[in-house]
Amino acid sequence: MGENVLITGASTGIGKAIAAKYLENGFNVIINYAHDDDLASETFAELVRKYDAFGRLFCIKADVSDSKQVERLFYEAREVFGEIQVLINNAGIAQDKLFTDITDDDWNEMIGTNLTGCFNCCREAIPYMVRVKYGRIVNVSSMWGIVGASMEVHYSAAKAGVIGLTKALAKELGPSGITVNCVAPGAIDTRMNACYSEDEIAAICDETPLGRLGKPSEIADAVYFLTSSDFTTGQVLSPNGGFVI
Ligand code: NDP
Repeated sequence: MGENVLITGASTGIGKAIAAKYLENGFNVIINYAHDDDLASETFAELVRKYDAFGRLFCIKADVSDSKQVERLFYEAREVFGEIQVLINNAGIAQDKLFTDITDDDWNEMIGTNLTGCFNCCREAIPYMVRVKYGRIVNVSSMWGIVGASMEVHYSAAKAGVIGLTKALAKELGPSGITVNCVAPGAIDTRMNACYSEDEIAAICDETPLGRLGKPSEIADAVYFLTSSDFTTGQVLSPNGGFVI
């Protein structure tokens, strides 16, 4: 198992929980974000304090949808820790909109962040992994990438794309000793769902056999399992409380 992990979109929510999991397990961790400097600073300070991670945790701002910024992200990450053995493509955005209201900008931002972001980061990480014949990549999709969600056509399309990218890349990189897997979470208790009312959240819980939202740490556990397993590749693990079976 490698020792340097880069997690995109890790200033809050699922990405932050993934960072905590890898810090707990002794990794050097790079967390990334694109917009909210204050939130990223708070999270950075909290994780350093909680995991005694001074010198083991760095935070780099970069928009994953922009290939130039991703190039710089990896350059800076390498300057700090050296090469990256574990890449977690977690950065994502969501939006509820009728299909007919989706604008060009909505579509491009959705695909850019959720799907092109994975492509950009994989492209930077993989040449080193191929050279050393070792690497672990996990891409964060969604259960909606498997079954599709009404009012989230662009989100569902981007997340289905992430699953296709994962499976194809797993086939291409298997011979180089690199595993590529995907987690496809159900509804998780993060700010991404803060737009829903209490009644809407209760309705989601009602539809979920386990009767509640997932916790970010439960997705982090699934991600960690996938990077710990040497014989699992091209798989989609969907911790969703039974919402999609
Ligand atoms: P949050 O909104 O809580 O966090 C998203 C993170 O991504 C933040 O750190 C945000 O920081 C960062 N981010 C957003 N845009 C970019 C960008 N262009 N470049 C780099 N970083 C970016 O989301 P969650 O933690 O809930 O979601 C994490 C992942 O899990 C996403 O891919 C999401 O689609 C997926 N998911 C979430 C589910 C849920 O119910 N919460 C269900 C299924 C999947 P900043 O805003 O500062 O850029």
